[in-house]
Amino acid sequence: MFLEHLNSLRPSIKFTMEVESNHQLPFLDVMVERTNSNSIITKVYRKPTHTDCYLNYWSYHSHSVKNGIIHILKHCAKTICRDEITLTEEMEHLKLVFKKNGYPCDTVNRALHHQRNKRRSKEEQTQITEVTTTIPYVKGVSERIRRICAKHNIKVIFRSGRTLRSILSHVKPQPDLLNHPGVIYRIPCLDCDRSYIGETGRTLRVRLSEHQRCCKNFETQKSAVAQHCLEEHHRIDWQGSTVIEKESIWHRKRIKEAIHINSFPNFNQDQGLNISPIWMSNIT
Ligand SMILES: [Zn+2]
Repeated sequence: MFLEHLNSLRPSIKFTMEVESNHQLPFLDVMVERTNSNSIITKVYRKPTHTDCYLNYWSYHSHSVKNGIIHILKHCAKTICRDEITLTEEMEHLKLVFKKNGYPCDTVNRALHHQRNKRRSKEEQTQITEVTTTIPYVKGVSERIRRICAKHNIKVIFRSGRTLRSILSHVKPQPDLLNHPGVIYRIPCLDCDRSYIGETGRTLRVRLSEHQRCCKNFETQKSAVAQHCLEEHHRIDWQGSTVIEKESIWHRKRIKEAIHINSFPNFNQDQGLNISPIWMSNIT
């Protein structure tokens, strides 16, 4: 009756209502259950379509990410399950779920049954002025860098590197990069698999016209593109020229150019900024 009344107020607004089934009613991620004695117990609610698939233990992520998932689900269980029986049931369920996702039993048991280190007090936090930096996650290396940085009060956050998804899916439409000032660009050759990688503070459109003019005027000293085109008798794929990255800060642009020169087979005359091979093996 009340629902009918609500729906009669404005025809454009329709309310729906869920009713109790088997003494149970889900609300967000909580299953509210009415017992025979008319008291209420709460459990963690998962939709029937829930797959219990979480980040696999063997996936390429740091241990802190995996431990974080266990702690989040533990926190959720402890917040929702208010009595011992439902909490124990939920914990047993979590153990099975993590086992299914490849987690070793002792890692799960340790995380589920041990208290996390208490957070530092606010006073302690303000005393330590932390600098935060972000680095790509490389298994075995990034953890060591984090330990070294921690000694100097530098907080290190990991970010995941390139994934198949990031390489293959470009959901956002590409803006007009041809007219964007400050870019790292690539001019491919039609007759071999090599390219020219360059950086400019101006636009790719301007740089392309300069390279084209050098080709026309046989100015091989001024342009590696002209040199490749005229000495190898190869055709340049002007239409296939692309912006690899946007970057307006000069020094960063030089570093990025050097990284991309190392990543593509190229016919550059010089190889750009000298970057240590130790960094290159981690970046590329
Ligand atoms: Zn070529």
